[in-house]
Amino acid sequence: MRLYGGIEAGGTKFNCVIGSGPDHIVAEARIATTTPAETVGHTIAFFQRHAPEYPIHAIGIGSFGPVDLHEDSPTYGYITTTPKPGWAQTDLCGALHQALSIPVAFDTDVNAAAFGEYHWVPENRALDPLLYLTIGTGIGLGAIVNGQPLHGLLHPEAGHMLLPHDRTIDPFEGSCPFHGDCWEGLAAGPAIEKRWQQRGETLPPDHPAWQLEAQYIAYAVANLIYAFSPQRIVLGGGVMQQAGLLDRVRCEVQGIINDYLQSDRITRDIDQLIVAPGLGNRSGVLGAIALAIQAPR
Ligand SMILES: [Zn+2]
Repeated sequence: MRLYGGIEAGGTKFNCVIGSGPDHIVAEARIATTTPAETVGHTIAFFQRHAPEYPIHAIGIGSFGPVDLHEDSPTYGYITTTPKPGWAQTDLCGALHQALSIPVAFDTDVNAAAFGEYHWVPENRALDPLLYLTIGTGIGLGAIVNGQPLHGLLHPEAGHMLLPHDRTIDPFEGSCPFHGDCWEGLAAGPAIEKRWQQRGETLPPDHPAWQLEAQYIAYAVANLIYAFSPQRIVLGGGVMQQAGLLDRVRCEVQGIINDYLQSDRITRDIDQLIVAPGLGNRSGVLGAIALAIQAPR
């Protein structure tokens, strides 16, 4: 069986795997995200160390961003303007390609996760467009359209969309350094913590924080349903681990759409439209494997 490498390059850690799919992972490592030289060095060393026993045909990377996805650009495969100290203008793709001399596929972390859910979860396979949202430290959107991750001008950044914000109900000004009260500024993990002065995990399930959170997520999800007409929306990320939040979001989405869209998947079977990740917290790294499988030779 052909083996591939997968890297989920995150702001706090790089998850690296070698395998052929969800049921066949032969090696795995978690590498702390410190400096590019150290982290990329350890990542390369992981694959080199295993190469004699587990030679890989290609590698896929799903990276935090922003990243350059234009194959004809001189900075293709770079992490570009990230505010993360030391990581701006890092040639991630080139470093891996140079060290390992194998094809490297490159995309955003959320596009990789979307592709993982699309490629590996049998029930998702025919459901195109498929959207994957991560709601955690940040908010990001990956989109599969016509079977491939959506890029476009740069890549989707739906976490920064603007939403109704009633300041009489929620006077919190928002925490996005660029926009204040965009979706991420109102509803990502750090916003929850700043608004309520305690971490989301410590807020009880009946705390008003969760109804407000469901409302903001539902506004955004409804906007995405209008814009993409998706057949599947996967909600992942740490905030979505909160018990009951997924059901609240489904219910709020139905309320916002208000029967305007006549589809059974909205009016009746919304639990078939808006779902938790089929791959748990491994959508990203398994998506990176799926990207590697289709990397050009
Ligand atoms: Zn923003």
